[in-house]
Amino acid sequence: MTTSNVRTHYRSCNLCEAICGIEIRLRGDEIISIRGDKKDPFSKGHICPKAVALQDLQNDPDRLRKPVKKTPQGWQEISWSEAFRETAKKLRGIQAEFGRDSVGVYQGNPTVHNLDAMIFGVSFFRQLKTKNRYSATSVDQLPHHLAAILMFGHALRLPIPDIDRTDYMLIMGANPVVSNGSIMTAPNVKKRLKAIQSRGGQFITIDPRFTETSKIADRHLFIRPGTDALLLLAMVNYLFSNGLVDCGHLHEYVEQLEQIPALVKDYSPESVAEETGIPALDIKLLVKEFCAAEKAVLYARIGVSTHEFGSLVNWLVNLFNILTGNLDTKGGAMFTTPAIDLIGDKKPAGKKHARYHSRVSQYPETISEFPVAALAEEILTPGKGQIKAMIVAAGNPLLSTPNNTQLEKAFNSLEFVLSIDFYINETSRHADIILPPPSPLERSHYDLAFNHFAVRNYARYSHALFEKAKGSLSEAEIYLELAYLMAPGGFTEKAKAWAKLKFLKTFKAEGFLAKGIKKGPYAQPKSQNNRDLSFKQLAKLEHGIDLGPLQSRFPEGILTKNGKIQLAPKKFVADLARLQLKFPTEITDSLAAAKPREKHSFLLIGRRDPRTCNSWLHNSYRMVKGKNRCTALIHPADADSIGIVQGQAVKVTSRAGSLELEVAISNEIMPGVISIPHGWGHGKANTRLDIANQHAGVSANQLTDEKLVDVLSGNAVLNGVPVEVTRI
Ligand code: SF4
Repeated sequence: MTTSNVRTHYRSCNLCEAICGIEIRLRGDEIISIRGDKKDPFSKGHICPKAVALQDLQNDPDRLRKPVKKTPQGWQEISWSEAFRETAKKLRGIQAEFGRDSVGVYQGNPTVHNLDAMIFGVSFFRQLKTKNRYSATSVDQLPHHLAAILMFGHALRLPIPDIDRTDYMLIMGANPVVSNGSIMTAPNVKKRLKAIQSRGGQFITIDPRFTETSKIADRHLFIRPGTDALLLLAMVNYLFSNGLVDCGHLHEYVEQLEQIPALVKDYSPESVAEETGIPALDIKLLVKEFCAAEKAVLYARIGVSTHEFGSLVNWLVNLFNILTGNLDTKGGAMFTTPAIDLIGDKKPAGKKHARYHSRVSQYPETISEFPVAALAEEILTPGKGQIKAMIVAAGNPLLSTPNNTQLEKAFNSLEFVLSIDFYINETSRHADIILPPPSPLERSHYDLAFNHFAVRNYARYSHALFEKAKGSLSEAEIYLELAYLMAPGGFTEKAKAWAKLKFLKTFKAEGFLAKGIKKGPYAQPKSQNNRDLSFKQLAKLEHGIDLGPLQSRFPEGILTKNGKIQLAPKKFVADLARLQLKFPTEITDSLAAAKPREKHSFLLIGRRDPRTCNSWLHNSYRMVKGKNRCTALIHPADADSIGIVQGQAVKVTSRAGSLELEVAISNEIMPGVISIPHGWGHGKANTRLDIANQHAGVSANQLTDEKLVDVLSGNAVLNGVPVEVTRI
């Protein structure tokens, strides 16, 4: 608290994975500033331009405060009881007639940034017992989870770069300076990267685009989209052919090491130079530098997870860190020790992959979900198990998943759509009923998910800043009511138990947090971390608490059946044949020998900028104003060859669809590659016209193709999509 009528509230920003601490100053209920919280031990005052959009979300007149129903006369506000009654009647009727799988679920990316939705939403969706569960996970990160399941025994056992202690960081397909870190919660990542250089180390980027991160890197290498697996195989090959393999302290925890040399033998640096666009000498130098560094880490993210061989790449990234002795070591890739550990120490953790398959294309389930690439066909293909109704929670799949046009057609054919969202967006406009949850500032928060990916162990609980609006319901209340009304077979014992919780109003997310911390690694009496943390204490620490640097988690951190890291899981080994088919290996070592390409043929890659957060924030004028950022980036040589100049519009066409947008010509992108940012394409929803129409942009997912996936995981291909670019 400061002056008489100005008060200060501290919390974490939940808009992205960085979970920065923020300081919000208010006069009465009016927010007068949002700044970084200098006393937050993790983010130390850092914020990005997006944080102020929390205020825009809070005050947005377009934000729904009451349930609405679609009628021939337009959207009409209805009471909560009517909304629940109608929803339950429809969904129960559809499940009774067509079976449980006839109700599909899509959980959008904001779900994992929301405590209530993480706890109560997930329970409700499980209770529906539908196999048709989908989420944003299969848009961009399923390959990470698959590699973690098959190598370490649990989907969340994801190695995180120990960026604060490394001497050498190799970054593939990631732009953390703009994304603020992904599967690497690292507030102020720019400062952390520069700190590597200040302590005498270096970091290198590999990307088809000279990104904002590349601009501050020690070196950048361009790579042709979709060829990262070749590069990594060559790097592993070079380790073996030069006697550089040294698993260090991991030696006794790995198995199948002897299989690896045969798997990589055809992939010398020379043999992949042409396809990757990286000279063999550069590949060898990377490996030598990496091995020479005392502490080194290879980090790869979205650009390499979202192409045809995303799962192979994630396996090879882990393998490379292991073979160089850089897993579970200071400055390498480490596992976190969060205060609430969702993994626990169960052994074995269970396979959670391919226990069943999707009906039409036979995609494997991973972590109880099908890949979202299957969603449209599961709605459109008649037969037993066809999806007839959808529940979309905090998601906008009609913009953010592949082939928007096809998915829109699918949504138009549904019998019922429920949206749990506070915006009428491109997806929720297809809903019959929309149930609006409170705004981020009207909720308490603890980051259950991203503390598992943080580069330091850390915990912070945020109290709600505002009371939720009168007559509105929390997500806990929304999901508890739905769970009660949707209980299969009527009011079963389980439903009665839910009802009791609902009416007693005792079961809040905070109860879950208290139990989680008590069972976790920082609570007495079993704490090995010299702490005695309880939820009660945490709730009083308005700036959060630092729980120290990442720690070794071996051997108890390996959750495979035999407690050993699997270096050559059969699925990955078998998938090498698909890679070989696409990229037959021949030794050329000559970039000049690269195959000629048609002048209009390009490979599409994505892009994001500091003021976008997927499609979350495009109703905030501050986030979308200014010059057009939804442009197609192409190389000057390509612009010349198709006869276009800066600012001119082009038509981009793929198998899935086409769009038109302005070009930005730059030598910061490889020839033959076109980059279009994701998350745009607003303007169809019934929101304020000035924002929605003037800053709509186009959706890159009109071009991405639901038929083009990483076969092992079914993850969408968003990078390396073949497109044609022509002058309009
Ligand atoms: S980096 Fe992410 S968490 Fe930090 S202020 Fe920006 S949006 Fe919020």
